[in-house]
Amino acid sequence: MEFKVSELEREPIDFDLSLTPGEVDLGEEAKQVGGLAAAGRAEVLHEHRGPRDIVADIRLKGSFSGTFEVPCARCVEPVKLPLQADFDLIFRPAEADTEAAERSITAPETEIGYYLNDSLSLEDVLREQVLLSLPVRTLCKPDCKGLCPRCGVNRNSQACSCDVGPSDPRWQALAGLSSRIKP
Ligand SMILES: [Zn+2]
Ligand SMILES: [Zn+2]
Repeated sequence: MEFKVSELEREPIDFDLSLTPGEVDLGEEAKQVGGLAAAGRAEVLHEHRGPRDIVADIRLKGSFSGTFEVPCARCVEPVKLPLQADFDLIFRPAEADTEAAERSITAPETEIGYYLNDSLSLEDVLREQVLLSLPVRTLCKPDCKGLCPRCGVNRNSQACSCDVGPSDPRWQALAGLSSRIKP
């Protein structure tokens, strides 16, 4: 869904939709499971910088919710993650700030994004919002045993004979290192 400034100038646009997996490109970081619901309103805000200098910003306010799969930080098994977040964002035309780069940026403006060619893609915004809301580190369970650093089996589901090795994790790290160095 694209918001065109010329259309938003006439009236704000309310949206309420469900995006199927793939419509928002999340790259390798997360996989969308089922619909991604997004609802809110897009409108134009005019910044009066001078008598003949009016900048048309797009304000996008709304929320999204959906379920995503991200790899466990230890065993890389997919973990289902329901996510929900509100957003209230301002997008300025990309060209508006190029000649005014020296203008001081006040704290609330640090949240400002930019749009190109008079239109803003909802999918691009959602992509960023979903990725921002992902936890830094996700575990499938708090005590996930992870992968064996030597043979690579998932130690949650299988025991391996490597377990007889030194239990000090520093030695395991060294063991993993030497096996990688070997030609
Ligand atoms: Zn895990
Ligand atoms: Zn092993």
